Amino acid sequence: MVKSKSSHLYESVSILSGVGAKKVEALSGLGIRTVMDLFYYFPYRYEDFYEQNVYNLADGDKAVLHGQVVTTPVLSRFGYKKSSLRFKMEVQDLVINVVFFNQPYLRDKIMIGEDLAVYGKWEQAKLSLTASKTVDLKKTDQLEPVYSTTASIKQWAIRKLIKSAFEDYGSELINIVPNEIRDPLHLMDEHDMIFKIHFPKSYDDVKEARQSAVFEEFFLYLGRLKWLKKDDDQLGIQVNYNLNELKQFIETLPFELTDSQKHAVNEICFDLKSEQAMNRLLQGDVGSGKTIVAALGIYAAFTAKMQSALMVPTEVLAAQHYDNLKQLFNDTNLQVALLTSGTSKSERKALLEDLKNGKIDLLIGTHALIQPDVEFNNLAFVIIDEQHRFGVNQRRALRVKGLMPNILSMTATPIPRTLAITIYGSIKISTIKEMPKGRLPIKTIWVKGASDPLIDRAVRYELEHDHQVYVVAPLVAESETMDLRNAEEIYDQYVQNYPKVEVALLHGKMKPDDKEQILNDFAAKKYRILVSTTVIEVGVDVKDATLMIIYDANRFGLSQLHQLRGRVGRSSIQSYCILVANPQNEVAKKRLELMVESNDGFFLAENDLKLRGAGEVFGNRQSGEINFKVGDPLEDQKSLQLARDAVDQVFSKDPELTDAENQNFHEFLVHTKDQDETID
Ligand code: ADP
Ligand code: MG
Repeated sequence: MVKSKSSHLYESVSILSGVGAKKVEALSGLGIRTVMDLFYYFPYRYEDFYEQNVYNLADGDKAVLHGQVVTTPVLSRFGYKKSSLRFKMEVQDLVINVVFFNQPYLRDKIMIGEDLAVYGKWEQAKLSLTASKTVDLKKTDQLEPVYSTTASIKQWAIRKLIKSAFEDYGSELINIVPNEIRDPLHLMDEHDMIFKIHFPKSYDDVKEARQSAVFEEFFLYLGRLKWLKKDDDQLGIQVNYNLNELKQFIETLPFELTDSQKHAVNEICFDLKSEQAMNRLLQGDVGSGKTIVAALGIYAAFTAKMQSALMVPTEVLAAQHYDNLKQLFNDTNLQVALLTSGTSKSERKALLEDLKNGKIDLLIGTHALIQPDVEFNNLAFVIIDEQHRFGVNQRRALRVKGLMPNILSMTATPIPRTLAITIYGSIKISTIKEMPKGRLPIKTIWVKGASDPLIDRAVRYELEHDHQVYVVAPLVAESETMDLRNAEEIYDQYVQNYPKVEVALLHGKMKPDDKEQILNDFAAKKYRILVSTTVIEVGVDVKDATLMIIYDANRFGLSQLHQLRGRVGRSSIQSYCILVANPQNEVAKKRLELMVESNDGFFLAENDLKLRGAGEVFGNRQSGEINFKVGDPLEDQKSLQLARDAVDQVFSKDPELTDAENQNFHEFLVHTKDQDETID
């Protein structure tokens, strides 16, 4: 077969020069496997080098200043390789000091009288700029992309890699979206779009490229949904459950279900019994009690002697659900099992045997559940917790295993119905509107500084009352290593301040087993204070934790803050959340005010949307609702709508995508399909 022109794009990054096994692994940690993935690894922001008004600068600001050199640069050397180069510059009407460290060669390049622009950090008290580089204002590439990185790969390395990959293979980029769609919408050519995203000359470039990228992303996503759906339209498994047994089980619950919960259970049971395969989304705020609703569906399936699977995004969460559900079903014959990547080989073998023989009624795990060798006996019901973290294809892979099981997705992030339908196809929605009885709204307080005495007072008060405290350490989005360093500092500080209690530290670099151990120990009250980077898992349930302190709260999005806060207030004890932040920008202030004002996730989500946009280029998708990299289905609803119409147009004319015009699109779908079926 003749290789198509675009073949390198779908090849492993290992074909790039300088990329060995180690880099391959580091890149795969960022979700980058192929050259195409690398091109589509977009910066989450840009550093800009536009000239600034010196009178508007605050201490510590990074800025480009432009003026005339008014003294001859003086070089001083101190020690091996260390030096400083100092001179004065007149910027606007102000004479400022400029210093470059360890760049002695600049002495011969910077002349008195010269017109110069320099980039650096402003020190107000000394009217001084600690400069890191000179900037050529005429050459207009004053934007530098900033990518998310991990400890194993550095910012400069990613930049360099993308640059060289683009030089070598950029010309192979072809338009996947068919021309009949591109032309009327004036989409940018893929090649130009990728170029402008990684090497823009202005924010206008970025904006224009982003628009095309968002449309394309939605188009490809919806296109794939449609493509896969061809094999999906089948009847579902009917679950003829025993209503009396289910009712009896509900009687044994230690609490009364809320009206919304009852309603949701009824809707789920109705779906289970129907011939159609269930495709339902259960949405409810953090702490609203989604798990028990799912559990009742599981129990219903059990009364029909059918199996269920519960799939969650992390191993820690899987272990927690396992403990809780095992406890819940303790007095029944319903057999629960947990399968994670930590399950030993022999345990796994026995477990899979039992699963196949129908001895296990409920299997809980991460996407370890969709490994090819995991075979069910009669899987009828699948629950996906915090569904937005799973792609449509993982859902499908699971679906494929059990003929056509009924699928319930659960999420704490509400999305409008029409949007849900666009994104998930013909989905039905159940909503839990109220919190369990007896819950007190969490009181949220915003303080400006980490040394505010209120923090210490609150911690002491809660400890005296035998409660527990979560401390969320500051976030430095660009590097896990730095996040960890911050968390360690805070941890040391808490250990010192509260010597009589046990303090634990939890962070993203720990092994899942260690994380789980710490969370379990915290739940068992071995620790009273838990200092953590943001890894506090969605869904962790510790009833005596009544205080949460979030440092640098302005760095989190509103929904993320709300999710975090939802870790407290899980019983009838009054809980508190202290937000520590002193942001200068109005949007950040408004976010914090909203947090203080409201405990309602739906209200906050709505307002989050209104506040977003300003200053965010590609946004911070980690906190996004549904896993799109570029587009935001809420913010970019118009593009989403256009993409949906475009996909319908293409498929109605050429359902099998055999027309020459759709060849690239077809090829893309085939390639990504292969990719989806291999689950790591
Ligand atoms: P989420 O919706 O965030 O997943 P969970 O299902 O973890 O919430 O429920 C939070 C807590 O509320 C759990 O401890 C659960 O046992 C409890 N809970 C759920 N429903 C009720 C209810 N109707 N009355 C009292 N407590 C409830
Ligand atoms: Mg939950």
